[in-house]
Amino acid sequence: MPSLKGKTALITGSTSGIGLAIARSFAAAGCNVMLNGFGNADDIEKLRAGLEKEFRISARYSHADMSKPAEIAAMIAATENQFGTLDVLVNNAGIQHVASVEDFPAEKWDAIIAVNLSSSFHTIRAALPGMKKRKWGRIINIASAHGLVASGQKAAYVAAKHGLIGLTKVVAIETANAGITCNAICPGWVLTPLVQAQIEARARERGTTAEAEKLALVAEKQPMHQFTSPENVGALAVFLASEAASTITGSAYSIDGGWTAQ
Ligand code: NAD
Repeated sequence: MPSLKGKTALITGSTSGIGLAIARSFAAAGCNVMLNGFGNADDIEKLRAGLEKEFRISARYSHADMSKPAEIAAMIAATENQFGTLDVLVNNAGIQHVASVEDFPAEKWDAIIAVNLSSSFHTIRAALPGMKKRKWGRIINIASAHGLVASGQKAAYVAAKHGLIGLTKVVAIETANAGITCNAICPGWVLTPLVQAQIEARARERGTTAEAEKLALVAEKQPMHQFTSPENVGALAVFLASEAASTITGSAYSIDGGWTAQ
């Protein structure tokens, strides 16, 4: 594993699922971490203290809501104040809602675009001046296979993730000679609370079991009938932050069991 000792990573939406695994992977690489996301305050404090103890790094937490630009700006400033630097920005916070376009509640559309797309614009614009000053930065946007191809019932999510890959490319071009890279990671199915909710909804609709729908969900989209682990997404993110990846920029890395190869 590459060493990121002395660096600081901010991972949005890192109290659960993929974001939490990414935070653990950065901590394991010796990187200090700023956590963010919703959840029970005691559980989050246990998580934060646990990371410090297990990996001997410094971990802090910001409760900023990724749908609120002012809270995002404050979170970036707090990270730079508390750690003295912000080297790696991982835009991971995300939400989902499943409905056909004509039934899609407008407020769900607005919320998904805010959290899954606009929040990355707000974090990036606030983080770039410091990265440019220090002449080093890594921006990693957690997009999705749905940033490259579409599925029905996911208008807002697919639009946001396609937009996030577009934003990734623009930022990569604008920062190409500033010591900064910007890339997207596009996971296929990863078994997290976000996907578990979709599996349970399918089982209710079809009168089947969650176990049966878990297999059906993966087999419908992926040639490889296997979930990607959150830890493997974390390992890819750490690689993209390493010196070995210093000329990889503007790319969208699939980690999807062959979903988008079809
Ligand atoms: P999850 O529900 O387990 O975690 C989402 C995290 O985002 C949580 O920590 C939650 O508290 C946080 N969050 C939600 N709204 C927030 C807000 N307004 N402000 C701050 N934090 C907020 O989901 P996950 O599956 O780990 O998803 C993480 C990312 O990975 C998302 O961007 C998702 O679109 C993407 N992704 C997931 C899969 C998958 O199969 N699970 C596949 C491709 C991409």
